[in-house]
Amino acid sequence: MTVSKLLTRTQFFHQLKETSQLYQNTRQEFALILIGINRFKKINLLYGFEVGDQILDQMSERIIDILPEGNVIAKINNSEFAILLKQIKHAGQVILATNKIISVLSEPFNIANETVRIKVSIGICSAQASITRSDDYIHRAEVALELAKKSNAEYLLYSDALDLDLNRQPDIENKINIALEEGEFELYYQPKVDLKSGTPIGAEALIRWNHPLLGQVSPNAFIPIAEQTGQIIPITFWTLNTALRQLSEWPEFETMLNVAVNFSAIATKDEDLVERVESALKIWGIDYTRLTIEITESTLLSDPTKTFEILKKLKNLGIKISIDDFGTGYSSLSYFKNIPATELKIDQSFVSKVLSSPTDLQITKTIIAIAKEFELKVVAEGIEDQATYDALVKLDCDIGQGYFIGRPMPLDKFVNWLKTPRFSFTKNVNSNDAEHPNSPNRDT
Ligand code: C2E
Ligand code: MG
Ligand code: MG
Repeated sequence: MTVSKLLTRTQFFHQLKETSQLYQNTRQEFALILIGINRFKKINLLYGFEVGDQILDQMSERIIDILPEGNVIAKINNSEFAILLKQIKHAGQVILATNKIISVLSEPFNIANETVRIKVSIGICSAQASITRSDDYIHRAEVALELAKKSNAEYLLYSDALDLDLNRQPDIENKINIALEEGEFELYYQPKVDLKSGTPIGAEALIRWNHPLLGQVSPNAFIPIAEQTGQIIPITFWTLNTALRQLSEWPEFETMLNVAVNFSAIATKDEDLVERVESALKIWGIDYTRLTIEITESTLLSDPTKTFEILKKLKNLGIKISIDDFGTGYSSLSYFKNIPATELKIDQSFVSKVLSSPTDLQITKTIIAIAKEFELKVVAEGIEDQATYDALVKLDCDIGQGYFIGRPMPLDKFVNWLKTPRFSFTKNVNSNDAEHPNSPNRDT
């Protein structure tokens, strides 16, 4: 029996060819998984190439350890590994393997007295009858990997929708313009609650594209394209204006609730940003403290001087600034002295594993401690169950967001959610959990 092992690039491509031919003849399912290390150049610069090389070695060892027998892995370029998963019996196997890979690679690497964390993105292409050339598998997995990186997703499966996104970009560009003109975009709202009391403090506005033919398109699929084409600017201002306008439709008694809007890197560098945000708030007559702008940690670090300057101006106006997906970038503690933020949002990859992974628990604790130290509010996003909710209350996290509290929902459902009397989410306080009005299934 073959054991999982590291192949050379040439050997790997040869096996991919054989496996895809076998699929054409016998329909024996397989999948190609590409793993890209995000910002690997930066790791090489920070720690040196020797450490970089050792990380690559340890990565392949960790993956080989968990790969079922008969599967192979190769380093196909400076920062990417490819895995061939053969003899797949059901689709879930691929996702299971992917999650395992993400989990083992999220543990820190201890090399030469340095503790280094990496973040990977993964693109997957499963066997497809329409693919006759093995190179096309590589191409499609690269497409999925590229989109995963751009959209900050841990992994993406290649699908025709992705192909449509990247290969027919002019077409998508037109479609986005039409969507803006025809009103195909919609905002969903996901509640944010004070964890200890369970009281809503506001919601995050999340964009949805209701395409007449494609159905509901995920923001992970079109925001990266809109960022490339510059269309993210009109989208961002559509989102901002719609969220501020719809605030007036939230129940009258909820006048203190806050709405959070996501801003991409390009939008944060717009020279007129401060003026445009201020004028939107004035037009809709909204108190400045009721708006939160969420930017990802990587956006903050992409051009810190410029971004800090703009965010500082917004913060000085009373607008709240939240650092999204926190913990996945490489912020150094020295930034915190002057960080123009009011809130840190712990990335959901840590929150979801707070009970199962001691490392993720430790990271969550550390982020909470950093937030307290620098007098920032701290939000846990991606709370999917009672146990995680309770754990975060114990860790003294301030605010929670996640499917357990409420899924993103259209405006009318969100308004109903706000109007529905709520029990506390904390188990010990609430004996009526079974009829919990905020149970994960009651929304969307
Ligand atoms: P984000 O800002 O980090 O938003 C959180 C994402 O996590 C949302 O995905 C939300 O639906 C999902 N989520 C929330 N709770 C849970 C949970 O308990 N479990 C799981 N598995 N997921 C949960 P969504 O709506 O698909 O948005 C994805 C990303 O797209 C957002 O990540 C944000 O970066 C971007 N995005 C969404 N709307 C906008 C927008 O209007 N403008 C910009 N620039 N980006 C947006
Ligand atoms: Mg966000
Ligand atoms: Mg996030």
